Amino acid sequence: MKLCFVTNNKNKLSEVSSILKNVKIISLEDISFYEDILETGSSLKENSELKAKCIYEKFNIDCFADDTGLEIDFLNGEPGVYSARYAGNRSNSKDNIDLVLKKMKNSKNRNAHFRTIITLYLDSKVYFFDGSVSGTISYKPIGNFGFGYDSIFIPQGYDITFAQMSGEAKNKISHRKKAIEKLNMFLLNK
Ligand code: IMP
Repeated sequence: MKLCFVTNNKNKLSEVSSILKNVKIISLEDISFYEDILETGSSLKENSELKAKCIYEKFNIDCFADDTGLEIDFLNGEPGVYSARYAGNRSNSKDNIDLVLKKMKNSKNRNAHFRTIITLYLDSKVYFFDGSVSGTISYKPIGNFGFGYDSIFIPQGYDITFAQMSGEAKNKISHRKKAIEKLNMFLLNK
């Protein structure tokens, strides 16, 4: 089976390819798609669906897309669907992390959750899979591995951030891993 993974993120591509072993994963580069798909949805599910739908309709190929958000209890679920551009449209990960830590300066409640929603377009049907991991937000960024908000997220049961873990260790417990495992089980039973 061949599936296009609608992402330009190399970290995600290798993480997903290592789990979906029975699937030939092709990337947006492989189909020469270099445009930005605007994430205009108001939820992770909507954004994940619109990314997969865009490629399905344009190329008529089976494909899947993911959308991930960091949901912080003290911030009423923010940055959530706005995780990629929390500090503004041109913000990078450091800007986003700085804003989160600033807003949480006086908070003792550090509980947070990473949540991933995957949308699969297969044989003209649409399917959804989710995965989440709970943890706490550190008081400052720690660690050099990973990407995004990894350096401020301490998964439950650990005393180090995702960015202090090897990719292999993070991928055993991550939100995306859980969602991809559900996708994998679904595909194996097809
Ligand atoms: P997207 O799902 O790629 O659109 O990601 C939305 C935002 O969440 C971006 O700022 C990413 O950097 C961040 N993000 C997504 N997955 C992870 C992760 O596994 N760890 C840390 N940050 C992530």
